[in-house]
Amino acid sequence: MDVTRRLSRRNVVRGISASVAASVLPSMLPWPSFAQAAARVVVVGGGFGGASCARALRKLDPKLQVTLIEPGRIFTACPFSNEVIAGLRELQAQQFTYDSVATEGVSVIVQAATTIDPQVRKIGLADGGSVNYDRLVLAPGIDLRFDALPGYDEDAALKMPHAWKAGEQTILLRKQIEAMEDGGTVVLAVPAAPLRCPPAPYERASLIAHYLKAKKPRSKILILDAKDSFSQQKLFEAAWKELYPGMIERIALSQGGRVTSVDPATNTIITDFGNYTAQVASVIPPQKAGRIAEIAGAADNTGWCPIDPVNFASKLVPNVHVIGDAAISGGIPKSASAAHAQGKACAAAIVNLLAGKSPEMPRLTGACYNTVAPGYAFSLSGVYQPRDGQFAEVESATSPVNAPREVRAREAEAAENWFKTITVDAFG
Ligand SMILES: Cc1cc2nc3c(=O)[nH]c(=O)nc-3n(C[C@H](O)[C@H](O)[C@H](O)COP(=O)(O)OP(=O)(O)OC[C@H]3O[C@@H](n4cnc5c(N)ncnc54)[C@H](O)[C@@H]3O)c2cc1C
Repeated sequence: MDVTRRLSRRNVVRGISASVAASVLPSMLPWPSFAQAAARVVVVGGGFGGASCARALRKLDPKLQVTLIEPGRIFTACPFSNEVIAGLRELQAQQFTYDSVATEGVSVIVQAATTIDPQVRKIGLADGGSVNYDRLVLAPGIDLRFDALPGYDEDAALKMPHAWKAGEQTILLRKQIEAMEDGGTVVLAVPAAPLRCPPAPYERASLIAHYLKAKKPRSKILILDAKDSFSQQKLFEAAWKELYPGMIERIALSQGGRVTSVDPATNTIITDFGNYTAQVASVIPPQKAGRIAEIAGAADNTGWCPIDPVNFASKLVPNVHVIGDAAISGGIPKSASAAHAQGKACAAAIVNLLAGKSPEMPRLTGACYNTVAPGYAFSLSGVYQPRDGQFAEVESATSPVNAPREVRAREAEAAENWFKTITVDAFG
């Protein structure tokens, strides 16, 4: 089917002429033959990494033909979604369109990419259309491994929500907690690393505790953890002691906290050492790069995509770059902050590559805020640079453990400002 017929107006937000023009250019010409034509850079996935990258590409080189392929017309952000679960925020505050991205000249195709053929540099779309590229950026985020935890599949997620992709799952978990009787137990099952946003399960426990303390004070939270230690642990534990004494219990890996299976019919969570029946269970399963990365051949047997940290080029597939949660490289965290920084640095690297210049050494900065109650947050920030073929953390700073409440309040304000800034930068 001819792509010009396939890419219907309905599925392209704006800039249709650019995307069609992009798709009908010959795809197999050797690189120097494109000297006259604008290069076609396609970004798959319009989250924090992909949207930031697409916008930065157009800003850095307005001549580029930039296409963003994303199945959703509205993006729902995960940062601050734990506040939605706790009833402190509405889901709409998490939602962003691609209107500004499209206005800036990026062709936004509202479709899922279903196939990638790196030989002919062609992406197949869910509606049967296709798009060719000179350089492809994969930014599909994560997929949940529904085959990794016995008993936990897509149907089980409707009973025991992971809420690890924001949207319906977030609302489902919130409704379950709202419907729970006072005195119930909320169980959070946390997987081993690597996972999207390592401190977010503990932020979730904190904010659910905030809700329960006010509305159902006899209730408890039990964290079953496949790790012994976790990010910002001292800060979380100090906050739990101060704000929610006796409400949150955590069973670590070495105490038998690793979840080995679940039974959604009875809301039972099974670990190496015991069975726990929850009134509400949020089961966060192991994760991997978004499926399209695997289809492209960019994921290795860990399920994640190894990259060259200097230019984000896939180590497995030529002319493909991988950014955000899907990529794996040393100490770089799977966070919106890091994905956004990678999106911008990857855009700069691609513009340099296309101009025949060497990419500059990226220096990525990221900050991760954790809110444990309204007006009470702490943070961890880091700087990452390529070292020995991987990203290494070259600087880091974390909030002090014994800081006064004014410091926590200032950090809560800084967290809100961070979210506003990053979402404006990614989505306009
Ligand atoms: C509860 C929670 C709280 C969090 N809090 C924070 C926080 O406070 N700070 C922070 O920095 N990070 C936080 N994160 C992490 C953050 O959300 C992710 O790290 C970030 O979204 C990763 O960005 P990304 O671009 O890689 O993926 P995403 O933002 O998930 O975007 C991926 C996009 O790719 C699209 N896609 C997937 N497959 C295809 C396909 N085949 N074709 C086309 N498009 C496709 C998806 O629709 C999606 O829009 C949190 C995460 C969770 C779960």
